[in-house]
Amino acid sequence: MSTSGEQITMEDGVLHIPDTPIIPYIEGDGVGADIWAAARPVFDAAVKTAYNGERAIEWTEVLAGEKANEHTGELLPEETVDTIREHRVAIKGPLTTPVGAGFRSLNVALRQKLDLYANVRPTYYIDGVPSPMKDPGQMDMVAFRENTEDVYAGIEWKAGTEGAEKVRRFVEEEMGFDETIHDGPVGIGIKPITEFGTKRLVREAIDYALESDGHQFVTLVHKGNIMKFTEGAFRDWGYEVAREEYGDEVITEDTLWEERDGDPPEDAVVVNDRIADNMLQQIQTRTDQYDVLAMPNLNGDYLSDACGAQIGGLGVAPGANFGTAACLAEPVHGSANKYAGQDKVNPSALILSGRLMFEYMGWDEASDAILDALETTIAQKRVTYDFERNLEGAELLTCSEFGQAVVENMG
Ligand code: NAP
Repeated sequence: MSTSGEQITMEDGVLHIPDTPIIPYIEGDGVGADIWAAARPVFDAAVKTAYNGERAIEWTEVLAGEKANEHTGELLPEETVDTIREHRVAIKGPLTTPVGAGFRSLNVALRQKLDLYANVRPTYYIDGVPSPMKDPGQMDMVAFRENTEDVYAGIEWKAGTEGAEKVRRFVEEEMGFDETIHDGPVGIGIKPITEFGTKRLVREAIDYALESDGHQFVTLVHKGNIMKFTEGAFRDWGYEVAREEYGDEVITEDTLWEERDGDPPEDAVVVNDRIADNMLQQIQTRTDQYDVLAMPNLNGDYLSDACGAQIGGLGVAPGANFGTAACLAEPVHGSANKYAGQDKVNPSALILSGRLMFEYMGWDEASDAILDALETTIAQKRVTYDFERNLEGAELLTCSEFGQAVVENMG
């Protein structure tokens, strides 16, 4: 633990950021060590450039995932959770989650234990990045994904277990759904979506739209036509927040068409809703009509990866988890284990996640310095494998070389 840095604190509900804040980081599994080694010098150079050396970050490593298991015998030591909670602002690489067996997700555990209820994933285009879209610059959406419930709070019973059979009997005999489940082994899951979880997430999305320039529409993305009492309720509670808590600042799509013939007032946010499957096509066919997406957990996961594909892929898709006076920045992508240790993948997603962290701290100049240098590097066509394969005349860089190039272009 550091001796020269100072802890970020909160006084009267306001974050106090010292000039040398201690910021915990989790390197992450798989490609985590590669991208962290490339991104950290970028963060340090950005702060140095933006504040002429008067500010600096005191990084402190906290362990999670495979590295934690090796050192402590635990995948997510309590000390890691406590340190992040105490320091309020942190950044992490990806953590592997086994499929079909083994432990439940460490990412989910971290977000739930720290009550980081909003997973925010902005998707914006950087000039020169190769994209499958004709006009990728139209993509400028910010996903607000509920981060503590839906499938993240999902309760599941494995096929063939006493638990699964007990739930089947309860559903069939006590709840009266006796023709619903086929005979034979069945895996059963329950996904809770609450009014509390929905409303606090939708409030964040609306507040963001009200404060930001150029993000006027908030779209509730749900599958309420089929899952009426979970996803449908998410939509209804979302509209309730819009109607009951914001007065004239927020109108719904119905009002927009009934009273204004589709012409939105300049100073108001418009809340609408779309069914998730339709939304997956709308983001491609009507990209410029969507700004902020508020979604239950699973829809948010699918939609944000699909948005990311339009602006160059997961290598450049940033994110951060927010709670009450807390921020844990992390890229959208996972641990991409097949590339682990090869110094190959694109560190941009982690670098851009750092921008979200700096903006949360009010260090906008450092955030801007990062974006400027990243844009310059991409304009120079000095890129990692994911961009190089689709970019004529590009120079292929390793992960660490790319980070170094961004540092060279700083300031
Ligand atoms: P993934 O790790 O995100 O990788 C999927 C593909 O995305 C990669 O094969 C690669 O595509 C591309 N990609 C990912 N990161 C990239 C980068 N930095 N630069 C360039 N391309 C990148 O997804 P996954 O393979 O499905 O998941 C692996 C593990 O990560 C799983 O255990 C999963 O549970 C976990 N995961 C963790 C998080 C998290 O920690 N927040 C998030 C998602 C998944 P190409 O090979 O086509 O180039």
